[in-house]
Amino acid sequence: MSQRIGVLNVQGAVSEHATHLRRVGAEVHLVRRPEDLTGLAGIVLPGGESTTIGKLLKKYGLFEPLRDRIAEGMPVFGTCAGMILLAERILGGDDPHLAVMDVTVDRNSFGRQRESFEANVAMADMEGDSFPAVFIRAPHIVDAKPSVRVLAEIDGKIVAARQGQMLATAFHPELTDDLRLHRYFSEMVGTSSYVSAMS
Ligand code: GLN
Repeated sequence: MSQRIGVLNVQGAVSEHATHLRRVGAEVHLVRRPEDLTGLAGIVLPGGESTTIGKLLKKYGLFEPLRDRIAEGMPVFGTCAGMILLAERILGGDDPHLAVMDVTVDRNSFGRQRESFEANVAMADMEGDSFPAVFIRAPHIVDAKPSVRVLAEIDGKIVAARQGQMLATAFHPELTDDLRLHRYFSEMVGTSSYVSAMS
């Protein structure tokens, strides 16, 4: 049976994530309302603008149901702004959003001259070549607690990490043809017994 994986559909690179997830065999459901969470075995939080996405989560009544499900163990994959949404702490005084992952993030880490760039990143837990990572006004993790496993760093900055059922990347794996991170997440979902109940 294929897994039902949600993609948060309020802003950002939604369709690219949906395409990648389908290509690794998932049944994709776009999530905008609390009831869309029903029956999901995992969810992807795409990149975009974290402040806007945080506000829209509240507007659509998704904020608490989503946070509660992640806290209950629903596998989640946050990319770029999605990683910022997961972080318990944001450098510079911004209020955290879902605050479920024990990391501190810096929202704009690579400077204006490097607003967007691609780099090959060596990833732990991943076979084959380094990962082609696209960074767009990317954040990074400045501090990860011991329960967080660092999966990749660039220039000494943490750009991919995992804590239990939570996976986060500072870059956009949905913008290249490399499916390994989406496959990795679908395997996380496959080994988890979580299925989201009715909201
Ligand atoms: N820096 C952006 C933010 O703060 C994230 C950029 C992205 O998702 N590409 O939300």
